[in-house]
Amino acid sequence: MYPKSRLKCINCGKEFGSDEIVYVCRNCNSLLEVLIDIPRISLKEMAKREFSVWRYREFIPIEEDCEVVTLREGGTPLYECNRLAKWVGVKKLYIKYEGANPTGSFKDRGMTVGVTKAKSLGSKAVACASTGNTSASLAAYAARAGLTCYVLLPAHKVALGKLAQALMHGAKVISVRGNFDVALKMVMELSQKMDIYILNSVNPWRLEGQKTLAFEIIDQLNHVPDVVCVPMGNCGNISAIWKGFKEFHISGIIDKTPKMFGVQAEGAAPLVNMLKRGDKVLTPVTHPETIATAIRIGNPVNWPKAVMAIKESNGFYEAVSDEEIIEAQRLIATLEGIGVEPASAASVAGLKKAIANNIISKDIEAVCVCTGHLLKDPEEVIKVCNRPIEITPDVKLTPEILLAK
Ligand SMILES: *Cc1c(COP(=O)(O)O)cnc(C)c1O
Ligand SMILES: [Zn+2]
Repeated sequence: MYPKSRLKCINCGKEFGSDEIVYVCRNCNSLLEVLIDIPRISLKEMAKREFSVWRYREFIPIEEDCEVVTLREGGTPLYECNRLAKWVGVKKLYIKYEGANPTGSFKDRGMTVGVTKAKSLGSKAVACASTGNTSASLAAYAARAGLTCYVLLPAHKVALGKLAQALMHGAKVISVRGNFDVALKMVMELSQKMDIYILNSVNPWRLEGQKTLAFEIIDQLNHVPDVVCVPMGNCGNISAIWKGFKEFHISGIIDKTPKMFGVQAEGAAPLVNMLKRGDKVLTPVTHPETIATAIRIGNPVNWPKAVMAIKESNGFYEAVSDEEIIEAQRLIATLEGIGVEPASAASVAGLKKAIANNIISKDIEAVCVCTGHLLKDPEEVIKVCNRPIEITPDVKLTPEILLAK
């Protein structure tokens, strides 16, 4: 069974059919949301299936007769992190490790649904602008589906591992001399002139895959955590996860929802700045800068949805410095053995900061979503780590060498 669905503008309420190719409202240009008929089904019934995005079939609005494009995404580990919890200063901490997805980030959850949708709509080519992971994921899923893939990347600002993936999976890669926001504008304009299906997170179908992150957290914990911490770039993921919790709540699977905590990097924090100032609209950051390239976004398209996620859930927001991000990345790696890319570490850094500043009580159970794999950005990792000790083979390897500080 799949749920019947339609698209609805989050601003003016205008509705569109699920078979229309439309990314923003034709009436007022605002974001669209997928509305589904919420199924009545228990976790137990769904648990008979493989632990992956498609376990939650009843919540995913893809018609039954569609051939699903999948690389077995989702079903990622939820690690209990007691040493890290102590460092963060929180009672209980879990990491939802999205680096374990097929291409190494949560983007795969969205792409399995988004590319399946593209195929069912009859598209022959897909495209995106990307800070890196979206392009890596789209390139792989397009290859799996046999579709042509175009990606626009900000020149010289994409982590090496992600670029390698997009190239190896056969995408046509265009390097734009400009930042992500410029590249996204270009790809949206291109979609008016060319028959390409856009799979940036402005595409609401992608979020239907990403919402399974919330489902899995409930499945794995068997209860609702107090707080879920999510790094925010274009702000699609936090919106998707919140949608997932809301749908499980409406379906009766859970009887309450967690508070959503959105974290940005200080150099790219338009949404956190807006909320801290109490503004009603977002002022873009023209030159976003942070080591966490996956969230180096100055004009996040999904900001209105993220505001709803934070407000409706009674949640929190904070910005963290690059130093705080790198420290968290290192401690996640050394205390727990979990390798994440800088953007992912922002969730843990944000939680530590919010607890230190008494914004969040330390007496809670938190889940930090670690969005991408350590190997995505080897250059940054090498830069912030000590060099290996090089020795000649004719020199005896002595304990002194290993014990030297
Ligand atoms: C895409 C991405 C983010 C940001 O997600 P948004 O949905 O754009 O807010 C964070 N971390 C990683 C590793 C990503 O790839
Ligand atoms: Zn509208």
